[in-house]
Amino acid sequence: MKAITVEPKTPGSARLENIAEPDARDGSVLVEAIAVGVCGTDVEIVEGKYGWAPPGQSRLVLGHESLGRVIDPGASRSLKKGDLVVGIVRRPDPVPCPNCAVGEWDMCRNGQYTERGIKEIHGFMSERWRTEPEYAVKVDSSLGILGVLLEPMTVIAKALEQVVAVGQRSYWEANKVLVTGAGPIGLLAACAVSMRAKDVHVLDRVETGVKPELVRALGATYHSGRVMDLGFEPDVIVECTGVGSVLEDALHKIGAGGVICLTGVGGGGAAPGHAVADIAAKLVLNNNVLVGSVNANKRHWYKAAQALVQADRKWLSRLITRREAPENFPQALERRPDDIKVIIQFSEI
Ligand SMILES: [Zn+2]
Repeated sequence: MKAITVEPKTPGSARLENIAEPDARDGSVLVEAIAVGVCGTDVEIVEGKYGWAPPGQSRLVLGHESLGRVIDPGASRSLKKGDLVVGIVRRPDPVPCPNCAVGEWDMCRNGQYTERGIKEIHGFMSERWRTEPEYAVKVDSSLGILGVLLEPMTVIAKALEQVVAVGQRSYWEANKVLVTGAGPIGLLAACAVSMRAKDVHVLDRVETGVKPELVRALGATYHSGRVMDLGFEPDVIVECTGVGSVLEDALHKIGAGGVICLTGVGGGGAAPGHAVADIAAKLVLNNNVLVGSVNANKRHWYKAAQALVQADRKWLSRLITRREAPENFPQALERRPDDIKVIIQFSEI
């Protein structure tokens, strides 16, 4: 079968090739791939900056934002042939650490977790894949191709749970929510937040095009420019850019008692020590919390599936801006100005 594979840490090694059918030891549920979303992590792996092949192998099947159709439900009692499913990405570490032991692999303490398409387990960019029944999430059939947005939505489901958990440490009225960044994660965050909060704002660099339109279609307010120039102090900021200057502005602008949740990963070197002390002072004097959030556990997968079903289908469909055939995967990895979510389509829905 065809698969998109890469030799991790080797730039330019990605290729479409024929590999063996998925091993029965990978799980009893056999799935025909429909589509796989492409994200920044995939680009980093192809650029040789990240990723690990399974033990004893040199190449990794790429892809972690899956959508497929069940060919054989195997040992699953809830799935049947033809169901739409998405595969959970992370597996608990084998030790296991306390959090993995209770099913919170997203909070893994020792870093020995594995992840499909990223860390030591093959991903979903192959014509067929297998999964253990407990790691297959059934998607409402009415969502169709939009089920490919489930994995990025799980990141939001967890991040919002973190925000609420922190907020509930005291009496809390979170009225004004700001999302920084209008990429797929930022827009899905805005979509999920606008189901709960009335005053939702999204900030991104671009001034025109589909991103401002999508934000306004949610009934939210779009801003371009700097967080510092906003005329209000957010109660919650969901940071989805990973850009240092955006985070710096967010730290200054967050309201007293407010929560900043970081979902974006960036870089940019070390800040001088006094800047960190200034940030700490701001956090102390305003009871602010800066909380990082990564990955998702099964509860978040369930919540994300619920959120996708409740979202406006037409709006969601506008997030998928390009579909490429597996043969054209290099183009799928390119970032074009109007791209939001690009998917590689393996079969018709
Ligand atoms: Zn663990």
